[in-house]
Amino acid sequence: MEKGGNEMAEANKKVRLDEIEDRIRTIGVLTSGGDAPGMNAAIRAVVRTALAKGLKVRGIRRGYHGLLKEEIIDLSARDVSDTIQRGGTILQTARCQAMRTEEGQQKAAAICKKYGIDGLVVIGGDGSFAGAQRLANLGVKTIGLPGTIDLDIACTDYTIGFDTAVNTAMEAIDKIRDTSTSHERCSIIEVMGRDAGYLALWCGIANGAECILMPEERNYNEEELIEDILENKKRGKKNYIIINAEGIGDSINMAKRIEEATGIETRASIIGHMQRGGSPTCKDRVYASTMGAMAVELLLAGKSNRVVGYQHGAYVDFDINEALSMKKKIPAHQYEIAKLLAL
Ligand code: ATP
Repeated sequence: MEKGGNEMAEANKKVRLDEIEDRIRTIGVLTSGGDAPGMNAAIRAVVRTALAKGLKVRGIRRGYHGLLKEEIIDLSARDVSDTIQRGGTILQTARCQAMRTEEGQQKAAAICKKYGIDGLVVIGGDGSFAGAQRLANLGVKTIGLPGTIDLDIACTDYTIGFDTAVNTAMEAIDKIRDTSTSHERCSIIEVMGRDAGYLALWCGIANGAECILMPEERNYNEEELIEDILENKKRGKKNYIIINAEGIGDSINMAKRIEEATGIETRASIIGHMQRGGSPTCKDRVYASTMGAMAVELLLAGKSNRVVGYQHGAYVDFDINEALSMKKKIPAHQYEIAKLLAL
């Protein structure tokens, strides 16, 4: 009996020690991959939620690159004051080849342990989540937040930064349309999206473009496009707007070819990096703040290797392996609507 009692006491002691070992005391946060407006709102929410729950917070500068270089700073509530309205990321971001190697991943996990980081919030895209997954396998609890202007993360209908970027692009396109109409031009406007056409599709609908070219629908026919431009001109249209996703490329040469074939003055405008910057919209601030707080709550609930998403009007979380295996497609009905409205 006594022995049993001792065994029970030993077992209880072990449980308590396990619980203590499992408990999150320090949370790290980093931004990785391309920057996106709203990342600061997410960082701020991680910092303030964690501090409110009695945790310590360390910020890791320059993504995984900074983690491997031990660019780690303590973050207080004041450090994130006056940041929610700022574009970019106060922690900076980077790409890091070494993190793709097993050696780099082992080193990154060891550095997290050295700095007492037992939970890590990674704000970035699919590549950044793959890094978080490797760290989770090595014993660092990780939560990913979808931060990309491209909206190309399959497990979520919303990504931090898309709303700001799409509004920036829409406003720029409105301005180009004004001058395009005055001069009765054809305008090719290139928006970001090397592999994903969401920015192009949304702008195409929001700006009433005649044509949307996306990497997902590469097989466009330039001869048909030229005929359509001529047909529109005959019908008295004063401009013709083509939204080109970056992945289609060749906007400047395409403008030359169209001008040559139609005799209509055609200009290409590449909106470029201005889509990445700027003060985040209300939606990006609110969603990013909610996701940042949720990341901390998930870590405190003992969860790891999860990605936060937003689906069908609710915040949700997925296993990173499951999230990375999902494929995202341009919604066919939305594309059809865009084409229909361009008539
Ligand atoms: P964006 O949508 O802006 O491209 P992203 O997070 O997908 O964001 P990537 O450049 O693909 O951007 O990845 C960011 C970083 O994540 C990489 O530089 C690398 O350090 C890390 N990473 C990417 N893929 C892996 C992987 N398979 N294993 C470990 N780490 C990875």
